[in-house]
Amino acid sequence: MPNHATIPVNRLSFSQRILAWHELHGRKTLPWQLNKTPYRVWVSEIMLQQTQVGTVIPYYQRFMARFPDVVSLADADQDEVLHLWTGLGYYARARNLHKAARVIRDHYNGRFPERFEEVLGLPGIGRSTAGAVLSLSLGQHHGILDGNVKRVLTRWLGQKGWPGKKEVENALWDKVAELTPADGVSQYNQAMMDMGATICTRSKPACERCPVSTDCRARQLGTPTAFPEPKPKKTIQPEKRACFALLQSGDQLLLVQRPPQGLWGGLYCFPEFTDEDDMRRWLTRFPEAGEPEPLPGFRHTFSHFHLDISPWRVQLPHIPAEVMAGDERLWYNLRQPAPVGLAAATKKLLAYPQLHKRT
Ligand code: SF4
Repeated sequence: MPNHATIPVNRLSFSQRILAWHELHGRKTLPWQLNKTPYRVWVSEIMLQQTQVGTVIPYYQRFMARFPDVVSLADADQDEVLHLWTGLGYYARARNLHKAARVIRDHYNGRFPERFEEVLGLPGIGRSTAGAVLSLSLGQHHGILDGNVKRVLTRWLGQKGWPGKKEVENALWDKVAELTPADGVSQYNQAMMDMGATICTRSKPACERCPVSTDCRARQLGTPTAFPEPKPKKTIQPEKRACFALLQSGDQLLLVQRPPQGLWGGLYCFPEFTDEDDMRRWLTRFPEAGEPEPLPGFRHTFSHFHLDISPWRVQLPHIPAEVMAGDERLWYNLRQPAPVGLAAATKKLLAYPQLHKRT
């Protein structure tokens, strides 16, 4: 790497300043930066997509201990993968990771592909993630544009418009291609992500410590946090209602696995109904069931709507033969919890003290 110390800072290019900063301040000992392989970097990139480094580390370590390579991940049950993901949220990431591992096992003989188009063709991998995996693990020359990089670039450029809009995103990709250096691409990409995570942060950018502050447009304008522009607001956030039946026999509660696509896909939830009447109709198939008791309801907010949940506890003297455990059903034992992926609302309800009281 060239020695930048003797060149005045304003004569260095953007990437030279970023690389010099990385030499001094970049993170170099995160678990996925040690013993780098495309598989290890890929898992970290997927976990980091919506989650901060500090939160990801213990999940990453547990995941790697259980699935040290792509074939062990491919061979696992989806339930186990979702279980290790419980708490990280955005479960489509885990399902896609698992699906992609199976593609790699079955079509690439268990070796992570090394061609950009092949990596891009895997489930859950977009242009930036493919670029990150191949550049960080193998030093291939690809640019990246994840959330952190978008923030640094929109600020430095004073880029107007919401980066989720195609034309804004294309303009940013053009800039990425122009700025990404021929040498040291792995360090540069890592440094851009680190810059976004530690210096050019969402609400409190530390411009005084930033290596590109002298020509940063957002700083010149005095409005760093106005970039990137937010997504135009939807006028109303629709509200939906659902009624959950908490069918309980002793320590066991009936859970149902959701279909793979859609809300809480692949995770276990309580049987859900549109309203109380709908639930009561379903309960007629259990003549021994007690009277449903309402439990405190709550609102669960998804990215595009609110779900108002009304839980009802229904006690049964024993587990009825017609709903024994099956592929999509599980009698979840409160004292010996099964290692399955639980929806956030399910977890919350399972902690209700009413379910743990003996009656
Ligand atoms: S000067 Fe401030 S706003 Fe501009 S890139 Fe650096 S940290 Fe971000």
